[in-house]
Amino acid sequence: MARTWTILEMVHKGCRYQHCGDEWMILHVRRGVRVVALASSALQVSAGDMLNGLVGYQGNHYPVSSLYLTIDRARDQNQGYIADLKSLIKAKKEDKRFSSLERIARMSLEEDWDRFLETVTSMRGFATKGIAMFSSSRAGIWQVFPLPSPVPNALYFGKQPYITPLALFQARYGRGLVLLVGRRNARLMEIECGIPGQEITWEEDVPSRVKEGGWRMYEEKRIDNHILYHLELHIRNSISRLKEVAAKYTPNWVIIGGSDEARQLLQKFINDTSPRLNILAVLDLPVDTSSSDLLRLALEAEHKASLERAEKYLHFLESVVVTGKATLGLTDTAVAAAQGRLGVLLVSKEGMRKGQKCLSCGTVNQDEYWQVTGRCAGCGSHSAEPVSDIINSLVHQAFVHKTEVCFIESGPFWWEEADRVGGILRY
Ligand SMILES: [Zn+2]
Repeated sequence: MARTWTILEMVHKGCRYQHCGDEWMILHVRRGVRVVALASSALQVSAGDMLNGLVGYQGNHYPVSSLYLTIDRARDQNQGYIADLKSLIKAKKEDKRFSSLERIARMSLEEDWDRFLETVTSMRGFATKGIAMFSSSRAGIWQVFPLPSPVPNALYFGKQPYITPLALFQARYGRGLVLLVGRRNARLMEIECGIPGQEITWEEDVPSRVKEGGWRMYEEKRIDNHILYHLELHIRNSISRLKEVAAKYTPNWVIIGGSDEARQLLQKFINDTSPRLNILAVLDLPVDTSSSDLLRLALEAEHKASLERAEKYLHFLESVVVTGKATLGLTDTAVAAAQGRLGVLLVSKEGMRKGQKCLSCGTVNQDEYWQVTGRCAGCGSHSAEPVSDIINSLVHQAFVHKTEVCFIESGPFWWEEADRVGGILRY
């Protein structure tokens, strides 16, 4: 964790203060490449690592600001999102929680919000639909995550960053590679959290399939075999390149595709490789498909896979909950989450629910539960501090304990009746 923080500060300072100034950052956001992706290629830090770094911040001295904003320029020619951000900031300045803070904490927050406004105002012609930003000026935190689709506008501040909406995007989209092959060329694209990253293309010297007049059947067959040999070599080389990149990039999934014979060979050979890659979809697409179409198809495949995964987990949870291998409902799940016993945390996205976080074991208790019992459900302690959102605290704990987070978009009645929270235990 300590190593990650050193790098985050380099990104933060390198980007904003030391070498490059705002232009550097805005330039890369404009090209549809996240600042985070740039950092990842230069410094080998992934967006997931950046998120883990945020989770590690406990905000002992200064509060953290978290902003989610839809920046859909196509639908918003007059930059209505700047006005939206200004009104979010105005509302926070009028918030009693803000005025009750110490002066130094208020100053840090005001600097965060000025920086958010400055960054959003100076963005130009980029492709992202939304943005998530985290800042704690006095603590040296500054993170920008472009988002692939609109997000409900919200500005939060508190001891911990509000990461739930960002974690939802990560859980749905993850990190993947798309490989498309043609007869002579190929293309490999990185996609993380719905945003395209680096892309490489290459060509191979595969002979064309031309017939010469007067050649005998034997000759034609020999030439065909020769072409097939080169095509197979090209496909095997492409798979090697994919695996080379995958070894460094560690994708959650891979999508493969291409046209005709090349795609069929790719499909055939890729199954022979080890370790096996998680192939999410096989697309019938030419290599020169536009990046926006490719991204759209990849996101559809990812979303479909995440829905299937959610359904599978819900089904499993339902079948094992009576055996004690899973938890259902907030209280039991929160106790298991604080103890790091969850392999998968299942939650539905919804409004914020206040709670009480136990100061001795870290369990987050529902406000209603705390008011009735006055003690922690995990350890029985009577001392706790308020948290503004139980789900956000659970998501934080999941990241700390390397628990997979699965967002349930819609569940059956028993899920609705169980606080829309559950977990599958590790063992
Ligand atoms: Zn406790």
